[in-house]
Amino acid sequence: MNDKINKTLNNLKKRTFSPYYYETAEEAIEKVFELIPKDAKVGIGGSMTITNMDIPNLLKNRGNQVLMAGYTDLPKEQIYRQAAFADVYMTSANAITCDGEIVNIDGRGNRVAATIYGPPVVIAVVGVNKITDSLEDAIKRARNVASPQNCVRLNKKTPCAITGKCSYCYPPETICRNTVITHFPSSGKQYYVILVNQELGY
Ligand code: SF4
Repeated sequence: MNDKINKTLNNLKKRTFSPYYYETAEEAIEKVFELIPKDAKVGIGGSMTITNMDIPNLLKNRGNQVLMAGYTDLPKEQIYRQAAFADVYMTSANAITCDGEIVNIDGRGNRVAATIYGPPVVIAVVGVNKITDSLEDAIKRARNVASPQNCVRLNKKTPCAITGKCSYCYPPETICRNTVITHFPSSGKQYYVILVNQELGY
């Protein structure tokens, strides 16, 4: 483990997150399974990290009710609402600073809302590619790495979908409507951060 990862883990701990570190995605998945009871309802926010790790399918096959678009027949709006009242909420992050702060930018806001005031347990699985040196770099990363790729994926006609750089665009197309910095877990919430020593998501 390098100094940057070590520093991030220590600072997450100081901020009362519950951090774990694994070398591989497979080990991280084992930890996720250990943290989530088999009968828990699990809300999952849109996340390439979680999707690429196949966590929604693995949980579903284990018997968990998974509330994520594409993994249930419920209409999208109901999925978002029910996910906010699930037992556990899973997501990744757009960036994590070495200082132990988590940055996310959302369009609809369901993901950030659920991590702030939703299920009592939040689990974020995050590749080390998302660690930044400062809060400023974390926001830059969200706007110049994560959001442009999300715009391409979602077929949004934003400037960043073409240039790969943020031009601070406006509605109706912008997906950057809420920038949330989580300095500490919300009161009463158990917030696990599982850092994986791999490039995961964007
Ligand atoms: S504000 Fe607009 S241009 Fe900037 S990252 Fe968000 S969607 Fe892209």
